[in-house]
Amino acid sequence: MLPPALSDTIVALSTPPGAGAIAVVRLSGPAAIGLTNEVFRGKDLAAQPGHTLHYGTIRDGAQILDEVVVGLFRGPHSYTREDVVEISTHGSDYIVRELLALLVRRGARLAEPGEFTKRAFLHGAFDLAQAEAVADLIAADSALQHRVALNQMRGGFSRELADLRQRLIDFAALLELELDFGEEDVEFADRTGLIKLLGEVKTLVQRLLRSFELGNVIKNGVTTVIAGRPNAGKSTLLNALLNEERAIVSAIPGTTRDFIEDEVSLEGIKFRFVDTAGLRDTEDVVEAIGVERTRQRVQQAAVVLYLFDLATATPAEVAADVAALPLPAGAVLLLVGNKLDEAPTATVAELQAAYPDMLLLSATSHQGLEELRQRLLATVRREGLDAGAATIVTNLRHARSLEVAAEALTAVQQGLQHGLGTELVASDLRRALHALGEITGDISTDDLLGSIFTRFCIGK
Ligand code: GDP
Repeated sequence: MLPPALSDTIVALSTPPGAGAIAVVRLSGPAAIGLTNEVFRGKDLAAQPGHTLHYGTIRDGAQILDEVVVGLFRGPHSYTREDVVEISTHGSDYIVRELLALLVRRGARLAEPGEFTKRAFLHGAFDLAQAEAVADLIAADSALQHRVALNQMRGGFSRELADLRQRLIDFAALLELELDFGEEDVEFADRTGLIKLLGEVKTLVQRLLRSFELGNVIKNGVTTVIAGRPNAGKSTLLNALLNEERAIVSAIPGTTRDFIEDEVSLEGIKFRFVDTAGLRDTEDVVEAIGVERTRQRVQQAAVVLYLFDLATATPAEVAADVAALPLPAGAVLLLVGNKLDEAPTATVAELQAAYPDMLLLSATSHQGLEELRQRLLATVRREGLDAGAATIVTNLRHARSLEVAAEALTAVQQGLQHGLGTELVASDLRRALHALGEITGDISTDDLLGSIFTRFCIGK
């Protein structure tokens, strides 16, 4: 028996709205083929097998609306596992609007955002984590983001997690059985086996949690703050990296009052560059706010590019600036000497002796810019931030559930160690199972499903 929500047939435009070469209107549900057949003139669609294409016209009474190609997918061999029809029309808003209205008049219902994917999930085509990866895949705009989303959509860590969860469920069932026997003091569940399994599950959960940090970087980019004194050339460098006139460049110190940021994908890895107002003590109120914000932004950085002006800097000044920098734990600091074209040879030699890792460049002539890009990539790779492993968690919801699971698993482990009553251990175990089940959707509520699928676009 299908839930009532699945007994109707939904329809939506599945391509972006607006004029285009073609538009695809998609239907899913028991009446998808029958409904289309009523307005389609060509072959009898009801008699056609799945995975076939049919040319014909869409008619509203005697009026021809468009010449179309209809794609037929018979359930369960379709995205939603239901009968699905995809009507490719000419990409006109008018045609699409009329076609949708026509199909709705015939009994279809306009789909809600993400409803096709939700149906696929409800029919067991994939688990919740995979469904969410579909949204990530559509939103992916870097090669790495794409790879992680695709991996997750094709199973990713879901399978691993589901397998371990099933084994935990088996143990939980034995523990519950012991509880049923109450006073009789029997042990069905083998404690050594359980402890071993708990260790395995916890290792995976912790690995996934660690990967979340990485996943976040992949989704949102490596936050790279460009800091330095006013006039060091930060905005010029940002422009050079972004290849456009994004930040204002001026010769007056303190022009960049606020941070400006933009993303650049270098060899498939997304970097989010943040240009900061000069880090200096100032009397100017507006500028002081900028300086404060800079300090906050630096705190969120994965990489800090500290830029100084080779034309004026001295080793003592650089040392003082670096020491005063509020570098967050785990962030990588790259020292960059700018204005190489104007730098006195003696200063360069002196600084190089003091800071052998320092990069030298000229933001205006782009000399040394490619070395900087390579150094950034090398840094990220060394930190493992580009690992395209299957087991990368990018979803905050998953991370939250994993945290709860890890905490509950620890409680189970400790309970067993300290010989706590079966009842308490079983309850912690249930909590862990619940949290893990939320990730894959084995345990889900309408609210949860609603909040996930409404983030999809309509037609997906
Ligand atoms: P910010 O305050 O750190 O953002 O510095 P800007 O990017 O606004 O640059 C300050 C001044 O230094 C501008 O006049 C830039 O044209 C100049 N400048 C930046 N980079 C270089 C460089 O590599 N060589 C030279 N000669 N001047 C530069």
